[in-house]
Amino acid sequence: MTGSWEQEVRNRQEFRAQMVRNFGFTVMDHGVALTCCPHCSTVSALNSAFPDSDWNSLPHLVSVIEAFVDSRPEEMTCTVCKEPFAREADNNSSDYWLWHSHFLSEVKQDLQLLIHRKYGKTAWIEGMLVSSTGEIKPLTLPLSESEFKVRAGCFFSVKQAWSDFMREHWPISQFAALQISEGYYLVVNPPINADSDLQLFKDNCVQLVGKSTSASNQYEFADLSWADSWHFEENTYHQWLSDYESDLASSEIIAGVLASPQQFYSIMQRELNSFDCWLRRDGENNPTAFLGDDEYYVSFDYREYLINAMIKGYSYWGALRFVEPILELWEQTRAVGERLKKILGHYNCVVFGGHYLQFRNKGGKKIVREVDLAGLAECDDELEEDSAFIAWIAPQIGLNTQTLKFRS
Ligand SMILES: [Zn+2]
Repeated sequence: MTGSWEQEVRNRQEFRAQMVRNFGFTVMDHGVALTCCPHCSTVSALNSAFPDSDWNSLPHLVSVIEAFVDSRPEEMTCTVCKEPFAREADNNSSDYWLWHSHFLSEVKQDLQLLIHRKYGKTAWIEGMLVSSTGEIKPLTLPLSESEFKVRAGCFFSVKQAWSDFMREHWPISQFAALQISEGYYLVVNPPINADSDLQLFKDNCVQLVGKSTSASNQYEFADLSWADSWHFEENTYHQWLSDYESDLASSEIIAGVLASPQQFYSIMQRELNSFDCWLRRDGENNPTAFLGDDEYYVSFDYREYLINAMIKGYSYWGALRFVEPILELWEQTRAVGERLKKILGHYNCVVFGGHYLQFRNKGGKKIVREVDLAGLAECDDELEEDSAFIAWIAPQIGLNTQTLKFRS
């Protein structure tokens, strides 16, 4: 017998802590399912990937992990003794230990679950919150969203919070609000039939955000039903508020979010701190943000990202999922720009406007070629060899791969 499941989990927890440190808010969920080989008793891993990090609720997460074990391939081979073990037989006899981690960037705690499964049933679940310094706080499951908020300091899922909030106030007879985090509120209101109703709704909103200590007094409102007029297809209230779906779609009930773009901007700035880049904008209320360094940068409309997130049931930290591709775009822009400068050193290369690379003949003033680095295809491979890199980029920028000159 080589190693126990406890030891396997401990090893992976160390690896996980490193991942969280390196990737910050962009870190994906990570998990593993372990079982004992019936032939040689070695603890082996069945998998180590749950790439999704987007869960509607804690029970949703647990059910997906459980379903994974029950639906694993019919036959597996032990990595140590190479003997096959069949799923059917083992589901009834073997023990499974599942470990899963999900980073809560709002409170900088890693939520880790340990699940023991036998005879196709979950025997026990242990939850814990792991801080960046490795401090472990046990978390007893199951937990409601509001209990989770008390214990962890943040909601696990805004979607589940929405569902609980609706149930509590249904049928909606008056204005009600739930604070998700500083400057982020879920609000409901009965249909507005008169100017006086509208005035009352506005007054209630102003009063609500007036209590907030958030630096900004600029708030955006977005109604969940905008998902329909904007033709959003995924992650709308139709999926995660299905009990209230028809009422929200057909009636004039207000169910929406009040949130502050300013607050979101501050959070983005903090979260991006460890990524070697800055975040800037021209003026406090300008919705265009620039992400990058002094030479390479890209821009995006963060107000729009926030409003999408509000409609799709994400908190400020959940909204960072829309910023992550921008961070990756900047990283690629910078990497490709620097590499082109090196390989095409026979041209004068200058970066203009953050992501346009301009090439001039040495001694010449005329621009021979301008490449929008932010408009290139996404490159997932490392392309370590220059030849592989050139083969990837040449057709996109009209470069002759033999002469390394631009085609006219
Ligand atoms: Zn074995």
